[in-house]
Amino acid sequence: MTQNPPRPRIALLTTGGTIAMTAQGGRGGQLALDGAALSASVPGIETLAEIEVRPVLAKPSASFTLSDLGRIAAAAQEAAEMFDGVVITHGTDTLEETAFALALLTRAEAPIVMTSAMRRPDQLGADGPANLAAAIRVAASAKARGLGLLVVSDDEIHVGALVRKTHSFRPHAFSSAPFGPIGWVAEGRVRIALKPAFDLPHLAYPGGEPVVPIVEAGPGLEPKVVEALAPACDGLVVALPGAGHVAAAAVAPLAALAAERPVVFASRTGAGETLQNSYGFGGGEIELLAKGLIGAGPLDARKARVLLQLLLAEGAGVERVRAAFAGI
Ligand code: GLU
Repeated sequence: MTQNPPRPRIALLTTGGTIAMTAQGGRGGQLALDGAALSASVPGIETLAEIEVRPVLAKPSASFTLSDLGRIAAAAQEAAEMFDGVVITHGTDTLEETAFALALLTRAEAPIVMTSAMRRPDQLGADGPANLAAAIRVAASAKARGLGLLVVSDDEIHVGALVRKTHSFRPHAFSSAPFGPIGWVAEGRVRIALKPAFDLPHLAYPGGEPVVPIVEAGPGLEPKVVEALAPACDGLVVALPGAGHVAAAAVAPLAALAAERPVVFASRTGAGETLQNSYGFGGGEIELLAKGLIGAGPLDARKARVLLQLLLAEGAGVERVRAAFAGI
């Protein structure tokens, strides 16, 4: 008599999100489903894996704090050392920040896979069950081991270092453009087409909530805006046009802040990287670097903010922050 192979053991970490919400008496979506109810939404889940539910948080992702991200990372790291794979359910709104934080804070051979939903379980075409099933398949797959933090949505597999939410309501809401997903799930089969080659720093989160606002500039950035923010922040990220160019009038207050606290400039274009040695006009990247600002390189402003917050939480000074961004 042949024996069935043992099912993979998967930890299901729940944090909230649309995937766990239902409409409550005409008042819009509110958190309602626990991990057991989420599991029950996937028919035949018991044939895919042996699931252990571990509740971590239950709130909308726009309310997550840095310590919430640290808590998810600690729970994911612990589970990855005990199980064959880890699935984390999460709100889509700030999933990209948590994904990048987990890419920095966790190191595991076992796959750690985030997933979510754009439509509630009570809406037509609810995408949560399919996303959860695909995420479990990826978390249970030997092919997904050692690839770093993964995000599964709409049958695509993305890496945490690249993925962004790029639509506000459609089920196909995640993109790693200008690159792409590294793989996909088809009829339950997991395919990996590309392997990431990032060298992200491995950080620890000791606690704390460094205040790091993002200011996006367009044509013009009023100096008084930077001056008003300066006393309230531990660091600042500015999302700038092009390769990192700001209104000449804003350089002085940015430089004054950069003398005391890290000021990181990112490109607001969504692709490429901040340049270092191409533009010599007032407010160009050459002047910003000379005045002590730090280029985010290939990171967008949101990912730069996560990295800067985690570095500040570790107690990093300006020079360590500069070195960390230079190493990305
Ligand atoms: N659109 C969000 C979601 O997909 C709302 C809630 C959240 O991000 O937590 O889950």
